[in-house]
Amino acid sequence: MDGQKQKSLQRIPAVEQVLQNERIKNLLEDYPRTLVVESVREVLDVYRQNLIAGMKAEETLTIDEVVLRTEKLVIKKSQSNLRPAINATGVIVHTNLGRSVLSPKAQEAVRRIASTYCNLEIDLEKGSRGSRYEHVEDLLTRLTGAEAALVVNNNAAAVLLALNTLANGREAIVSRGQLVEIGGSFRIPEVMKQSGVKLVEVGTTNKTYIQDYEQAITENTALLLKVHTSNYRIVGFSHETTASELVELGKKYNIPVLEDLGSGFLIDLQQYGIKDEPRVQDSVAAGVDVVTFSGDKLLGGPQAGIIVGKKDYVAAMKKNPLTRALRIDKLTLAALEATLREYLDETKAIENIPTLRMLTMPEELIAVRARKLAGELKKEIGDKAAVFLTDGFSQAGGGALPTTELKTKLVSVKPKFLSAEKVAACLRTGDPAVLVRIKDDCIVLDLRTVFEDEISLLVERLKSCL
Ligand SMILES: *Cc1c(COP(=O)(O)O)cnc(C)c1O
Repeated sequence: MDGQKQKSLQRIPAVEQVLQNERIKNLLEDYPRTLVVESVREVLDVYRQNLIAGMKAEETLTIDEVVLRTEKLVIKKSQSNLRPAINATGVIVHTNLGRSVLSPKAQEAVRRIASTYCNLEIDLEKGSRGSRYEHVEDLLTRLTGAEAALVVNNNAAAVLLALNTLANGREAIVSRGQLVEIGGSFRIPEVMKQSGVKLVEVGTTNKTYIQDYEQAITENTALLLKVHTSNYRIVGFSHETTASELVELGKKYNIPVLEDLGSGFLIDLQQYGIKDEPRVQDSVAAGVDVVTFSGDKLLGGPQAGIIVGKKDYVAAMKKNPLTRALRIDKLTLAALEATLREYLDETKAIENIPTLRMLTMPEELIAVRARKLAGELKKEIGDKAAVFLTDGFSQAGGGALPTTELKTKLVSVKPKFLSAEKVAACLRTGDPAVLVRIKDDCIVLDLRTVFEDEISLLVERLKSCL
C-alpha cells in the first residue's frame, strides 16, 4: 500500500467525530438515531473499501463531504418503499401500478375513517353489535338489483368463498372455453381445487352448448359456473351459453348458477365505444343466483371482492368461517362505500371516478394535452431528444376489454445521446417513479393515464433523466 493511501486511510474521521457535527445533529432531530449512525458508518466504509480496492487515492475525505453523503443516504433510506408513480403507459387498470386510483370522495373517506374510531361493527341506532358488511349492502343491492350482497378482500376470495359455500365436496360444471387464467396466478381450476369443489369440464374450447351442461348433471352436481373470459375473447367459430340459458337449466334441476364476472362494470358506456363488457345488473336480471366481481377493476374503487345474489346464498356465505379469513378492512370499506355512492349519479360517476373518466376520455382531449406536453418538452429538452406526436391506442388493462381499441395521441421522445432503456430505467427509479412505454428506441408517453397535475412533474423527471 502506498504511503498516500495509508495516510488517507488514517485520516478517515471517526463515527463519533462525525456525529458531533452541527448538521448531523440537525439530522438527528428528524431521523432515527440508528439510521443516522448506520448511514455515517456506511459512508465511511464505502470510502475505506474503495480506497483499499485500489481507487486512486482521492483527496482526503473531509468532514463536510462525509456529512453531505450521510444526509443523502439518510434521505434515501427514509423514502417509503411503496411510493407514488406516474403512469404514462396508457394502461388504465394497471395491476402492477395498483389498478384503480380512488375518486376524491373515496380518498377523503379513507382519511376520515383512518384518523379516528368508527362504527365499523356497531349498530348506532340500536346500540348493539352490527355487521361491517351492512355499510355497503344497501348500495350494492340498489345498484345491481340483487337481493343481498357481501364484500371480501378481493375477487379471487369472492370466487373461493362462493364455490366453497355452494359446492364444497361436490361438483361444479364449467365450460372448457372459460377455464381462465388471470395474471398473477389466479386460475379457475386451481381455485376450484382449493375450495374443495370438483371441476367438471364440458364442451370444447370454442363451443359449449346448454346440452353439454345438461348431459353432465349428476346427483353430485351442486353448481353451474359461468366465468367471464375477461382478458381474452374466443372469436370466429364459437358458441357460449348465455346466463339465461344456464339459469333456466339450473331451475329445472334445482341447481344454483354462479357467475364470476371479473370486472364490476355497472354503467352502459356504449356511447363511448365501450361495448364488450357485461354489466353486473344484466347478470342479476338474467336470474343468476350469485355474481362475483372486483372492486378495483372497471368499478374504479379499492381492492375488494364483491358478491351479490339471492338472499339465502349470501346468508350462507356470511356464515362460512372462511369469510372471517377473507374479510375486508375498514379503510377499504370506506373507499368502497364512497365509490359506490358516486354511482347513484352515473354522469358524476364518469366524471369523478378516474378509471371511468380515463376509459371515456375523448381522443381530442388527450391530443390537446399531448400537444401541450410536446411543446414544453421541445423547449426544455429539445437539444437532447427529438420530440414528436404519434397515433396509438391505450388499453383498459386489468384483464378487461381486451379487444377494445381506445384511440389515443402519444408523445414520443427519442433521446440523442442515451438509449431509451437507460432513460426509462432512470424514470422508473426516481421519485415519483415514472412508468412509460418503449418503442423503436423512443420513450412513449400516453397522457390518458397521467393526471393533469402530474404533467409538470413529468417534464421535470424527463429533464433530469436526459
Ligand atoms: C380479475 C379476475 C379475477 C380475480 O380478481 P381479483 O380482484 O384480482 O382477485 C377473477 N375472475 C375473473 C374473471 C377476473 O377477471
